[in-house]
Amino acid sequence: MSTALEKTLIFLEYIENMIKNFNKIIENIKQMNLPYTEFVKFMEDINDPFIVLIACILSLRTNDKTTYPATMRMLKLGKTPKDFLSVKLEDLEKAIYPVGFYKNKAQQILDIAYELYHNHNSIVPKEIEELIKFKGVGRKTANLVQAKGYGLPSICVDVHVHRISNRLGLVETKEPEETEFALKENLPEKCWSDINTLFVTLGQNVCKPTKPDCAKCSLQNYCKFYKENN
Ligand code: SF4
Repeated sequence: MSTALEKTLIFLEYIENMIKNFNKIIENIKQMNLPYTEFVKFMEDINDPFIVLIACILSLRTNDKTTYPATMRMLKLGKTPKDFLSVKLEDLEKAIYPVGFYKNKAQQILDIAYELYHNHNSIVPKEIEELIKFKGVGRKTANLVQAKGYGLPSICVDVHVHRISNRLGLVETKEPEETEFALKENLPEKCWSDINTLFVTLGQNVCKPTKPDCAKCSLQNYCKFYKENN
């Protein structure tokens, strides 16, 4: 057998095992039946790209407990780009306070609404490359708009998804963006949509940043971190 063929077969076997492993991980997390935060539930159900976009902006560097009520207050002021054209900056700042960087975020949301209304017919772009052209929109937000706003296969990698993907051994990466690319490369598209919600919920309840509660986790058999530390 040629070396090139051997390498291809080894790689295919690796990918096949990874997918099998991944499917078991997803099944196990679902069976743990962990509670979703109100904000996660809201983002699961909203199906509106503009609202997903502006709610995600509020959520950056802010916990869900603060983000959810702030999002509800913001949506009382408007739900479409056109609505936000007549919203005053100070009213939006007041509505979203105390989310992190609320002043910057308020200005950013008004700028995005203006840009969408005047240059995009009020339609949020579907493509990541177009979304990240908006000031303050990174790949994390763009992926979430694709996934939750448009129902497209996408992987939004936040701190939880990045940490847990590494602990499980699905990837070996330093930055969330690398994790996004590595997961997308190794997993077929049909696996992508479940990752964000399930890993975020696992990260909020069990696999916490500094002290993962492995005793309560049913992923021990699949987890590199657990095997290396027990
Ligand atoms: S076994 Fe521990 S480290 Fe691994 S995913 Fe579960 S909580 Fe996280």
